[in-house]
Amino acid sequence: MSISVSSQNETSKLERLGAHSHIKGIGLNDNLEPKESSDGMVGQVKARRAAGVILRMIQGGKIAGRSILMAGPPSTGKTAIAMAMSQTLGSGTPFVSLSASEVYSLEMSKTEALLQALRKSIGVRIKEETEIIEGEVVEVQIDRSITGGNKQGKLTIRTTDMETVYDLGTKMIDALTKEKVLAGDVVTIDKSMGKVTKLGRSFTRARDYDAMGADTRFVQCPQGEIQKRKELVHTVSLHDIDVINSRTQGFLALFAGDTGEIKPEVREQINTKVSEWREEGKAEISPGVLFVDEVHMLDIECFSFFNRALEDELAPIVIMASNRGITRIRGTNYRSPHGIPVDYLDRMLIISTQTYSHEEVKEILHIRCQEEDVDMAPSALDYLASIGRETSLRYALLLISSSNQIALKRKSATIEDSDIKRVYDLFLDQSRSVKYLEEYEKNYVA
Ligand code: ATP
Repeated sequence: MSISVSSQNETSKLERLGAHSHIKGIGLNDNLEPKESSDGMVGQVKARRAAGVILRMIQGGKIAGRSILMAGPPSTGKTAIAMAMSQTLGSGTPFVSLSASEVYSLEMSKTEALLQALRKSIGVRIKEETEIIEGEVVEVQIDRSITGGNKQGKLTIRTTDMETVYDLGTKMIDALTKEKVLAGDVVTIDKSMGKVTKLGRSFTRARDYDAMGADTRFVQCPQGEIQKRKELVHTVSLHDIDVINSRTQGFLALFAGDTGEIKPEVREQINTKVSEWREEGKAEISPGVLFVDEVHMLDIECFSFFNRALEDELAPIVIMASNRGITRIRGTNYRSPHGIPVDYLDRMLIISTQTYSHEEVKEILHIRCQEEDVDMAPSALDYLASIGRETSLRYALLLISSSNQIALKRKSATIEDSDIKRVYDLFLDQSRSVKYLEEYEKNYVA
């Protein structure tokens, strides 16, 4: 089986980008010491330090197949810290986010959904050599009879010592057309990337182009080293390779996101191939992170699946998050911390997050105001921080943009206490909403 890996797909990142856009990193110095407020992160010093230790282990390739639990009350920054970890790891290390309830879909079994998520979290760094040609274009021939679909053509290039004809595919034809490449142009061409750079026009044809005006640049036809080899490294996930090679789906499924179930035989063949590439030095495995939110929604079968899957040689780091206390393990009548079976809990490293102080809430709200480009008077910020402490940080964060609308309506560029009071009355927080429902329940459809 020949395995294809070319994919334009970016490993998916956390979805709640908007809410966490102020988070730029984990805010630790080189000694893993957290600053009270840095990179958009405020407080939660112990949890951030622990996250920093885990990041070091991931970057040093020392852990894979481990499970970490971020446990703490709602809106205490569990997702924010995971997000910051993802930014620190950079784009070469996959970071995949999954809400546990997404596992229960009609399209595929829950174990298939989990397996796909795990394989999305494993990066395969593939090294490839590409040829860069630099020379004068003698002729570009495009087959005009083919409309749509895959275009075809030929390109003749003259370098110092030879003339070479290259077959062109759609990608290269589009690149040459975009750059308006004509005979006589001196270009560099990166065939595998489909990139063309026009350096100017060749002296040999200078006379033909006298009419082109003063800004036409002429360059010497290239001398000496004209064909270079460059090493390209791209990272795809194991799941991307699975999808591209799954005969029923094909690579288009990657863009549609509709991958269906993948046959175990395909995965086995890919595992074998990838380990061959590793042995030949053509590929490296980079285990990334799978972040699973609302972990109490996973049932006992999902936990047994994880238990087994994490033993596998190709396993990522699984970070789970929970804001639940002792609760029922889904699919059983047993109760346990966070709804996680105790034998699974026993193999986890647990990071706990704590509720914020008034000052910390104020600082987070202040950072968020800057992020949303909103001006809030100091007393209004203080007032909103008190609301945040009494209700939830997330509720207070939501009031920033709505109170700004109220301020704008009264033609003020600054949010004042009265604007905060107005939106607090207009929009219920969770506990007032419950109270309201209890009072007026009889008016609702049962
Ligand atoms: P839940 O248990 O309800 O899912 P969570 O612990 O995952 O909550 P987040 O979603 O991370 O909470 O936090 C809520 C909001 O507060 C987000 O917008 C997040 O970016 C912000 N936030 C939380 N903690 C911090 C922090 N320490 N520094 C800066 N922003 C934070």
